[in-house]
Amino acid sequence: MTDDYKPDTLGVRAGGLRSDFGEHSEALALTASFVFASAGQAARRFANEEPGNIYSRFTNPTVAMFQSRLAALEGAQACVATATGMAAVSTMAMGLLSSGDHLIAARGVFGTVVPLFNQILGRFGIETTWVDPTDLDAWRAALRPRTKLLFAETPSNPVCEVADIAGLAQIAHEAGAILAIDNCMCSPALQRPIALGADLVVHSATKYIDGQGRVLGGAIAGRRDLVEGPLFNFVRTAGPALSPFNAWICLKGLETLRLRVEAQSARALEVARWLESHPSVERVNHPGLESHPQHALAMRQQSAGGPVFSFVVRGGREAAWRVIDETRLLSITANFGDTKSTICHPASTTHGRLPPAEREAAGVVEGLLRLAVGLEDAGDIRADLERGLAAA
Ligand SMILES: *Cc1c(COP(=O)(O)O)cnc(C)c1O
Repeated sequence: MTDDYKPDTLGVRAGGLRSDFGEHSEALALTASFVFASAGQAARRFANEEPGNIYSRFTNPTVAMFQSRLAALEGAQACVATATGMAAVSTMAMGLLSSGDHLIAARGVFGTVVPLFNQILGRFGIETTWVDPTDLDAWRAALRPRTKLLFAETPSNPVCEVADIAGLAQIAHEAGAILAIDNCMCSPALQRPIALGADLVVHSATKYIDGQGRVLGGAIAGRRDLVEGPLFNFVRTAGPALSPFNAWICLKGLETLRLRVEAQSARALEVARWLESHPSVERVNHPGLESHPQHALAMRQQSAGGPVFSFVVRGGREAAWRVIDETRLLSITANFGDTKSTICHPASTTHGRLPPAEREAAGVVEGLLRLAVGLEDAGDIRADLERGLAAA
């Protein structure tokens, strides 16, 4: 597909491959290995002298379609898919870093990234410095001679802090380092970090790319020299490959990504505005609200605020739990990225293992609730929250 097509066209068409059967919908190549026409062809494929599939840990046509389509939507040169979002983060780190290297990461990234970097990478002699995602001076001050990678998630989850992607790219590139941005919360429907200077975009496809809460998946898109070099090499060798079935679900998810995420984001803003005027609500963290401290930056680098946000209920944990327990429609679950709206209390779930002081410093206070708005009617969502808020 040429680059001339607009994102809506790329979303349904980019990367499509058709077999000899002439199927219209993209085929699910659910196979572990591929056959060769002859012993000679097998030898040439293994020797990399002839293109073609060998084994689905290396390449698979359905996975290849997903990779090409996501690359097109992110404006990336290349993409490699992984089994989960955490497999993408691990592949990024293990594929790019060596013992003695240093990386800088935003405080408030997805919870599981913290033990991955501190404990697992730490065992291999890779050290992480954690910094405030919004403070560019702190990123600059954390640089060391062996800083190879800067990693941030924007907006962050659950407090929706916004990192300046172009500013981080400049800091990384002046230091000869790579900037990787986790784009889960917005997806390429609302934000394209590569156009702002990022070298790599990391995804949990489990979120908005599948978009209906069915499968786990992940991907890294970006510079061809990195993706088709060390990152692809890590996936085919270490093995965190995406299954063809999950790739097929995610590939078809990309076809409706923008329609879903824009609709969910519009509903989220409507609910956030209503919450902001509610007497039982102390604060709402949504990048689309004028009250958000980085609203102007968010509106420069995102086309909308996004479907996920958080708010603080007056009355601490007891009041926040009451809001959850009074819901009848919202799903009480820590996942997000689904067409069904979800609500959770981060301080006692996703962030429950953090020491309380660290949690509070990250903005995860006892009254905080995270809402990921789905495709239900915004009025029905408001009514579901109002019961608990009225009692608070
Ligand atoms: C969910 C999530 C991940 C991890 O993805 P899995 O598919 O659950 O492994 C990473 N980063 C962010 C921002 C996420 O929301």
